Amino acid sequence: MNPIRKFAAPALALLAALSVNIATAADLPRIHVIATGGTIAGAQASAQDYGYKSGAYDVDTLINAVPNLGKLASISGEQVVNIGSQDMNDDVWLQLAKALSATLAKDDVDGALIMHGTDTLEETSYFLSLVTKSPKPVVMVGSMRPATAISADGPGNIYNGVAVAADPKASGRGTLVSLNDEFHYARNVVKTNTTSVQTFESINRGPAGLAHTGTVEWFEPMDKKVGAQTEFSVESLDKLPRVDIIYAHANMSADLIEAAVKNGAKGIVVAGVGDGNMTSPALETLKKIAASGVVVVRSTRLPQGLVLRNNEVNDDEMGFVASGELNPAKSRVLLQLALTLTSDPGRIQAMFYDY
Ligand code: ASP
Repeated sequence: MNPIRKFAAPALALLAALSVNIATAADLPRIHVIATGGTIAGAQASAQDYGYKSGAYDVDTLINAVPNLGKLASISGEQVVNIGSQDMNDDVWLQLAKALSATLAKDDVDGALIMHGTDTLEETSYFLSLVTKSPKPVVMVGSMRPATAISADGPGNIYNGVAVAADPKASGRGTLVSLNDEFHYARNVVKTNTTSVQTFESINRGPAGLAHTGTVEWFEPMDKKVGAQTEFSVESLDKLPRVDIIYAHANMSADLIEAAVKNGAKGIVVAGVGDGNMTSPALETLKKIAASGVVVVRSTRLPQGLVLRNNEVNDDEMGFVASGELNPAKSRVLLQLALTLTSDPGRIQAMFYDY
């Protein structure tokens, strides 16, 4: 064989392979990462330390720690806050929702990945799902072990989260929460275990799908309204109405309910016993409070099942709203948004069915 052809052939093959890679890189989905802190950004003081501090690493450090992430998507990053999600509050939610909408409005962004602590991930994700109008994919991830831990789960969760965000099938489903090889609709997902990596579950319904080393498999579609289908908008809001959660128990008094209203609560969510029940004194007080215009939602402290309207409690007579599938934390989010539009319990009950 001609010696020039002998050496040129592999070189040309290499060039062809390179040009394929370059073309593929240009075609990769563009995912913008927004970091807010949490254990996924957490560090132990030393390998021997059991304790750790949330929100110790910044967004670039976290992205760069994930091998091969650049093969899934073209990644950009932004740090909005760097806190443990136990410190999440209305101001940060509004800031985050506005930053997310601004990001998704850009032509050079195809989807977003949000890193967040796991403690209040179920609340922030539901909030963003209800107020983010863009149909572009939004996926939230966290981790149960800090970035410095043995078998840290953050990098794997980021990798799978980017794979879900890069999947065109994720469009229009509202915010998704991806951890431990599963991803969930924000409305359904709850944290169920204090320390295990298998903590997020959609208890009544099961996950939206599975993600394994970047491979994404979808299960059921979402049947509740999200994003542009909702009536909520935070664009012109700089605060949210105060809603408090009161935990029901044997011998429950009405004192905390009265204190909540005295301190400015416009809505009360009761984490009721059983099917959203509570003691007679608590019920009587809530009936009076509902008549005065404060919206009362009956949810449950139990992990499964629905809180049914007019079952053991006559909600029509009391002027209450029944939370259906929504746990107290999610009921609080929906009630806060509902109260930006109305304090009519009938209209708010319809929202609890729709969203
Ligand atoms: N306390 C942490 C947080 O929510 C826990 C975690 O991220 O897993 O930020």
